[in-house]
Amino acid sequence: PSHAPLTNRSLVEIDREHLIHPVAPFRGHEQHGVNVLASGKGMWLTDANGREVIDAFAGLWCVNAGYGQESIVEAATKQMRELPYATGYFHFGAEAPIRLAGKLAELAPQDLDHVYFTLGGSDAVDSAIRYITHYFNAIGKPEKKQFIALEWGYHGSSSTGAGLTALPVFHRGFDLPRPWQHHIASPYPYRHPAGHDDAAVIASTVKALEDKVLELGADNVAAFFCEPIQGSGGVIVPPVGWLKAIREACTRLGILMLVDEVITGFGRTGPMFACDAEGVSPDFMTLAKGLTSGYVPMGAMLMADHVYQAIADSTAPNVPVGHGFTYSGHPVSAAVGLEVIRLYEDGLLANGAKTGERLAEHLARIASHPLVGDTRGRGMLGAIELVANKDTKAPLNPSLDLGGRLSRLTWDNGVVVRCFPQGVIGFAPALCCSTDEMDVIFDRVERSLDQLL
Ligand code: PLP
Repeated sequence: PSHAPLTNRSLVEIDREHLIHPVAPFRGHEQHGVNVLASGKGMWLTDANGREVIDAFAGLWCVNAGYGQESIVEAATKQMRELPYATGYFHFGAEAPIRLAGKLAELAPQDLDHVYFTLGGSDAVDSAIRYITHYFNAIGKPEKKQFIALEWGYHGSSSTGAGLTALPVFHRGFDLPRPWQHHIASPYPYRHPAGHDDAAVIASTVKALEDKVLELGADNVAAFFCEPIQGSGGVIVPPVGWLKAIREACTRLGILMLVDEVITGFGRTGPMFACDAEGVSPDFMTLAKGLTSGYVPMGAMLMADHVYQAIADSTAPNVPVGHGFTYSGHPVSAAVGLEVIRLYEDGLLANGAKTGERLAEHLARIASHPLVGDTRGRGMLGAIELVANKDTKAPLNPSLDLGGRLSRLTWDNGVVVRCFPQGVIGFAPALCCSTDEMDVIFDRVERSLDQLL
């Protein structure tokens, strides 16, 4: 690294030498540098050179309310002025996190009455693993310590959660998964042997879960974790009815179910939570991203009442349950969360549902493009899977780095999408997106696909 004074170095140079980016290829980052983003308004981002691009991915599927929403900025500013920090430790609390916990309990599926606030999704998942461990110790079943999740799943980057994540890049070099972390096949319709026979796909996951629980011993299995739609694995959309069938299987097998709604929560798939669409009430739910629309960091772990009561009953009144962060329930984040939820209820969810129909129309149309093998989505979440051969579904040759090329092409054409390494392009626009803006997104993506050919 250069030790020249900071003032003599460009932003890109300082970044290259000092900032470790999330999931970055270290040497690649040194070579290519980054596109520095400077400001945003609604669906639009402006980079440090003054160039405007449309953001079809809401930052990292989080800015659900869009950029530059003044009322969110005001809510944060007001809270910072009045009380920028309040601990939830000891006998203290503050209004905003208390109100937000109440609001989440009201909105969430029936039994999820108790909220623990985190800084994002990874520590929400990690907190759930800790509380689940505590719960089974509390009810006298300390041998129930095995966890099962799905292939292609993503549950964050914490030292424990990254092992339930099933994307190899999060395991490589990190000694994961751990021996108590297991994975079963994903309900990935396009690549599933049962194809688009919904009932068969659903039955296959139920059978895989039953088999895994049998193999590990029902007395040893604590919980099953899943996303309602697998986001970071490439927007993998299970058939309708899948989540409900898995809920029933978990109950039958005597294991807890955690639904990770970090991406799907807060209107991303239409309703407030993806669980709502199937009337599913899990034992745990994890939330982040849309909770504060990305304006400030915050996540939440929701715990069902029966779990809470069991932990409470097993602990003497003056003995703390030892899990807590300095910034759990941060008042500024909570004030932002309350305002963001007000915006969702005040029209953003409805607009997302309407524009989501336009997204579905575009996905259906683009399916005939020679490079497109599959399109899928729900609400304001969608994906295109590119293939080398539409008949055989042969994936694109990863050595051609088409994902990297497509990232650069789409950026050059003025649109931000997420290009997954296996040749999937993901869409997750803000819920404030208009139908015209959705047309702009697809116009620019299609131009990029044509240039890739
Ligand atoms: N769980 C899911 C389903 C996610 O998509 C993510 C992030 O993308 C996480 C957990 C981790 O959240 P965070 O990046 O806020 O730690």
